[in-house]
Order: sequence, then C-alpha cells, then structure tokens
Amino acid sequence: MLKFDAYSYLSQHGIKPSVQRQAIITYLYEHRTHPNVDDIFTALQPVIRTLSRTTIYNTLHLFHDHGAILALTINGETVHFDFNTQSHTHFYCLKCNKVFDVPEMECPTPTLPKKYDFEVTEYHFYLKGYCKQCKAENEKQL
Ligand SMILES: [Zn+2]
Ligand SMILES: [Zn+2]
Repeated sequence: MLKFDAYSYLSQHGIKPSVQRQAIITYLYEHRTHPNVDDIFTALQPVIRTLSRTTIYNTLHLFHDHGAILALTINGETVHFDFNTQSHTHFYCLKCNKVFDVPEMECPTPTLPKKYDFEVTEYHFYLKGYCKQCKAENEKQL
C-alpha cells in the first residue's frame, strides 16, 4: 500500500497542512470506519498530547468545508466522518451505532422537480437497521 501523503492531500484541498491536521486526515485515511470526534480524540490524544476535542471538531469541519472528507449526520446526534468523498451508500446500525459502507449498492440519484430550480451539491442515502452481529444478539434475547 502506498503511504498516504497527508501534506499533499491537504494542500490540494486548500488547507494549510499543520502537523495536527496531517495526523487527523491520516487517521481518517487509515480508519474507514466512519469515526466520530470522540473516536479520533481517544486514538490520537495519547500520541499528540496537546490535541483537544475542540481542535479535532474544528479541524474536521474545516476538512468538510474544503471537500476533503464527508460528514454524515445520520442519527441527529453524532457526526461520523468519512475519508471517502464519493457518493456511496451507508448502513447505520441502531444498536451499536456503527456506520458501514455498502459499496455494492448504488446510491439512487434523486431527481428534483424542475420547478424548484435548485442546484443540488450533495445528497445522502442511508439505510438503518441492525448489523449482522446485533441482529444475532437481538435474536438470542427473544
Ligand atoms: Zn450493530
Ligand atoms: Zn462511507
């Protein structure tokens, strides 16, 4: 696997590549599990002691504003971040709150009635339910 060039990636997206920003984008590149702010904080704080939750939060929103990452707000509480900015289908588990990629399933392209004359810049398609593991646990409890 080619080593990820965080410096270039951030520069290409018009973001000043500070050391902390490089660490955060590299984490997202390496962890395609749709981590939230807490996940990233827990993983990186022991390595970068000066890193705060606020910095991570602000950095992720900066990345998102520059189109460097996707931000997924599925349950209205936690925002999950995704390095993959291509439109792709997600499955959200209501029990373990994990977000899975479902690359085999194409995102249906929504068609907005002409009369609105709005320009669509992004759309999200989610499936919700129970993942394989949680489904098995639910069945055991019956
Ligand atoms: Zn689950
Ligand atoms: Zn994804």
